[in-house]
Amino acid sequence: MFVFFSLSAFFQHRDLKRRTESLVRGQLGATARTLGTAVSRFLDEGASPETVLDTILADEEVYFVALLDADRDILAWNSRFEGYLPISLTEGRDGGPGIIDSPAGRIFSELTPLATGDGRRFNLYLGYALTGMEAMIARSRRTTVLLSALALLAGTAFFRALYRLQSGFMAKSREAEAERREKEHFREISAFTSGVAHEIKNPLNSLALILEMLGRKVPAEAKGDLDLGKAQVRTIARIVDRFSRVVKAVRPEAEPLTLDEVLRQSAANLAAEVPAASSRVVVEVPPGVRLSADRDLLAQAFLNILKNAVEASGDAPVWVKGRRSGGRVEVVVRDEGPGFPAEAAGRLFEPFYTTKEKGMGIGLYLARRIIEAHGGTIEARRPEGAGAEFRVDLPGA
Ligand code: ADP
Repeated sequence: MFVFFSLSAFFQHRDLKRRTESLVRGQLGATARTLGTAVSRFLDEGASPETVLDTILADEEVYFVALLDADRDILAWNSRFEGYLPISLTEGRDGGPGIIDSPAGRIFSELTPLATGDGRRFNLYLGYALTGMEAMIARSRRTTVLLSALALLAGTAFFRALYRLQSGFMAKSREAEAERREKEHFREISAFTSGVAHEIKNPLNSLALILEMLGRKVPAEAKGDLDLGKAQVRTIARIVDRFSRVVKAVRPEAEPLTLDEVLRQSAANLAAEVPAASSRVVVEVPPGVRLSADRDLLAQAFLNILKNAVEASGDAPVWVKGRRSGGRVEVVVRDEGPGFPAEAAGRLFEPFYTTKEKGMGIGLYLARRIIEAHGGTIEARRPEGAGAEFRVDLPGA
């Protein structure tokens, strides 16, 4: 854009210069003719060249004027011509106005031949310095370039702001699109999973029934194997059941609760599932931190987080700290296990993401959905030193 402005300024000024020069040329020709007539008349009357110029020009300061003989030797000149004397007037000129370069700058020059009544021949030199005009044009050009630079700066700032606005808008729509796709993906997985779960459940129930009936017929020594088979069927039923639960929409039924009771319910459920781990969980929550939430769902979400922490940290304690923070409720679960790599942080809450051999990768996914359904957020952090930290933020009551 700057180049465009500069080029346009260059062409504009070239045009301005050309037009001004042609104006000066016309003006100089007319002045030369008028002056020539006057000079011829005075010379006719017998006045000397000096007297003629003195009389006609007096203290003329605009034009360079000189009176020359037929051989172009200077006979008389005005005060402005003084500093211009060393310049040859004849050099390279054969009539008509032209521009001569001189120490006084570029000078528009007109040489007019004169003849007196008694046959004497003279030449009248008239010059006009272009310096003032050129300085003016240069000034104007500088101003235009400066204005162009300013316009360029303003334009750049404007387009940068526009670009930022546009990028912000695009990022938002990309986010919205990603969210929409995730929901769509989830709907597809849900439909597929509930279909598969349904297909598995019926034959699985029949299988459980057959094994039950078989138990009454098989000899005592085969009972052990049969019990193993029944246990496997129960495991499959549990897995299918968990999958069915994951794909169900989370619809919390809110009731007034305290954070303390929710976390104690999670700890109690954990103790039922992993009895050895319960003494390692240290819950530090002041009483009276109120929220309005679905007790079972929220207890389930914290149970999933706690179970991971307990599994990851061997014999070390797991800290659960809760507090009110403005109108929000904050819970931090921290363990001293090996933690997770930075590149995994964004993936922990994805469905079916797991690094465990027997993991299913739905615990944290379900926890996130429950917390978000309550208007909250959950994030995983890598605290200084070792371990993992899960920070849950929920609206308070
Ligand atoms: P699962 O326990 O079946 O793997 P989750 O959704 O509960 O599924 O967890 C997903 C993954 O997140 C785990 O496999 C593990 O890699 C990582 N993770 C969760 N909690 C922790 C933790 N406290 N410390 C380290 N990694 C964890």
